[in-house]
Amino acid sequence: MRGKLTKSQQKILDVLKSVEGEISAQEIHHILRRNGFSTGLATVYRTLKSFLLQGLIKERITVDGESLYQLLNHSHQHHFNCINCGKSIPLPDNNCPINEAVYKSLLPNNFRIYYHTLEFFGLCESCQTLANDKKQSKV
Ligand SMILES: [Zn+2]
Ligand SMILES: [Zn+2]
Repeated sequence: MRGKLTKSQQKILDVLKSVEGEISAQEIHHILRRNGFSTGLATVYRTLKSFLLQGLIKERITVDGESLYQLLNHSHQHHFNCINCGKSIPLPDNNCPINEAVYKSLLPNNFRIYYHTLEFFGLCESCQTLANDKKQSKV
């Protein structure tokens, strides 16, 4: 990584390292406060943006529009997202359906890829059942 981290940047990196999966900026902010660090939410967002630009972390936006962050050295996952209840079901690890040969052939000159995201959207099983029940009750 370039340059030295400030104290709050280091703390934010520590939080990202301590979680297994994804975490939101609010959750990071909350954990910092709980541990007695008064880092502001704006600083958390600014630091996350700079980590993104350095290729340290990746960002995923949920159905609710919330950004979740994760260190890039963790295994990467793709999700099936229910647009009704917001449930997010991950594909098992190492089951990336993206074929490197395909995107490498489409890659613009001098573009450096840090990560990719791929999300599927629809209805989970229980939300489908609810939707069907509603349809039937109208008849
Ligand atoms: Zn659902
Ligand atoms: Zn993938």
